[in-house]
Amino acid sequence: MEKRLFSELGLSPETLKAVDKMGFEEASPIQTAVIPVALTGRDVVGQSSTGSGKTAAFALPAIEKVEARQRVVQVLILCPTRELAVQVAEETGKLALFKPGVREVPIYGGQSYERQFRALAAGTQIVIGTPGRVMDHMERGTLKLNALKMVILDETDRMLDMGFRDDIEHILKAVPPTRQLMFFSATIPRAIQELIGRYSKDPAWIKIESVAQNAPQVEQTYFEVDRRSKIEALTRLIDVHDFRYGIVFCSTKIMVDDLDEHLHARGYLTDRLHGDISQTQRDRVMEKFRRRAFEFLVATDVAARGLDVDDLEVVFNFDLPNDAEDYTHRIGRTGRAGRKGQAFTFVSGQEIYKLQSMVRWAKLDIQRGRIPSLDQVEEARTNVFFEKVRATLEAREFRPRDQMIDRLLDQGYASTDICSALIHLLQQGGAGGAWGQPAAAQTPAPKPAAASRPGRTEVKPAPAWAKLAAAPKPKSKAAPAPVAPAHSAREESPAAGARADSEESPEAASEVSRRSKYERPARTGREPGMVTIFLNVGRKQLVTPADIVGKIAGVTRLPATVVGAIDIHQRHTLADVATAEAELIVKKLAGIKLKGETLAPALAGAEG
Ligand code: ADP
Ligand code: MG
Repeated sequence: MEKRLFSELGLSPETLKAVDKMGFEEASPIQTAVIPVALTGRDVVGQSSTGSGKTAAFALPAIEKVEARQRVVQVLILCPTRELAVQVAEETGKLALFKPGVREVPIYGGQSYERQFRALAAGTQIVIGTPGRVMDHMERGTLKLNALKMVILDETDRMLDMGFRDDIEHILKAVPPTRQLMFFSATIPRAIQELIGRYSKDPAWIKIESVAQNAPQVEQTYFEVDRRSKIEALTRLIDVHDFRYGIVFCSTKIMVDDLDEHLHARGYLTDRLHGDISQTQRDRVMEKFRRRAFEFLVATDVAARGLDVDDLEVVFNFDLPNDAEDYTHRIGRTGRAGRKGQAFTFVSGQEIYKLQSMVRWAKLDIQRGRIPSLDQVEEARTNVFFEKVRATLEAREFRPRDQMIDRLLDQGYASTDICSALIHLLQQGGAGGAWGQPAAAQTPAPKPAAASRPGRTEVKPAPAWAKLAAAPKPKSKAAPAPVAPAHSAREESPAAGARADSEESPEAASEVSRRSKYERPARTGREPGMVTIFLNVGRKQLVTPADIVGKIAGVTRLPATVVGAIDIHQRHTLADVATAEAELIVKKLAGIKLKGETLAPALAGAEG
């Protein structure tokens, strides 16, 4: 399908000016095909993939259709989710910028009726809403559709998936028969064909083949990974490519929570979205993600539906999507508007067959990739570290330490050895921030924390030098309270220090210290940085400390070192656990069986 200039499509000077201001150079294929037809007043069925520019394809004709002086609702746009309604409203607002008197409002569940009512009463002409809330307003009499000229259904397939069919029919029956009707959808299943047949008059069917148009913009790679190695694979890919902005898709809410926690523990700035998260919270997360207040959004398909973000560097399919349609939806969120994006897909075990059938069905252009080795990750980190040292030297951003260096030189050490020793110390401390991760740590379990991610956290050399083991505090997502219990304990208390040193790698300790998400006031444990949890099993059940540690490590996948002293009593056990992990541990243990008993763990009370 060809593309044309917006000025060839029959638009007014005002909307052309707005399009120009938005930086659109030429119309996308769906825009080229839809806009002229829609301007004639004919019904339209528009089918094209995610990211192909459907919003402007319908919003521009809608804006042209509005009679600015008539202060009644003239255009109704139905969207599946609140997020999408807000985005469509925003884009419509921008496109209507130079049309004086044309106003738009998003209406959706969760926002006060009052506010929406005021906008409607003020004579807004374009209403963008979710079907449920639109119906509510119709019933309350606050949304009058008798002067409606145009109805647009955006992401119709999604709306039907989400069970809005009855609401949509109810709305379509209530609007004047003279209205122009436009359906937009990535797919046109039977149910949509029925709707079209029932409510539309001789529509123009416009279908833009997506594959050829979308594929070159997204580089697609899949990796065969063992289920248990997925997190490790994910972090290596992130580190080697030095990604800083992307979405990680999981198939379940539980997986989202879990992965979010793990990534956060490893020092990545993450947040999550899924169906169980309250609307207010979701809005906050999306808003933060759009302004890049964190790096990776971990989400389910449903939650990320309609989320429009530009400039994603990467989309990870941590779990394989259900079908090619979802796959295309997911990866369509990167490589938008001509920029190259990356899509990485993990398949484990039998899933490879499912992927193969998706490849055949949707003609995906996807290559097999290899998970980078630890050496490659290390090399990427080394390069970043090298650059940092070079930049520091270049800018002379350091205090001269001649006296100390001279002393070492006087004792006969070579300058290269002195530097190597310093780098070694930085590595060991897990702290320099510039580096951190010793190459020798081959265990797949807890891995580089924020400080060791090259270039993520700005750490000046001085503090790292002065206090090698002090981990820099990353921007924590929830609790601004000071963290680092376990880690600082290593430094300040010899007893705790010995314990940590003997059992725990530096990253594991700093990993614990970085977790602040679950910190809640609770009884302080007998060791610094620890709190006590209560478990309803004891000697009676023949429980041993190893059972407790094993269970906790097993269900949380945290290192065993998050558990401190354990007191086993006749019918209960008191176990000290890292403060930062306590809530997670309690949550994960609840309902789990241990020695035949169903665990009902609790943070021990604040009796001191
Ligand atoms: P769809 O609804 O088909 O998934 P959108 O309407 O959300 O796609 O558009 C995807 C992105 O492309 C948006 O960021 C939008 O601003 C941008 N866009 C739309 N049309 C053009 C164009 N003609 N030129 C450049 N960017 C465009
Ligand atoms: Mg869209």
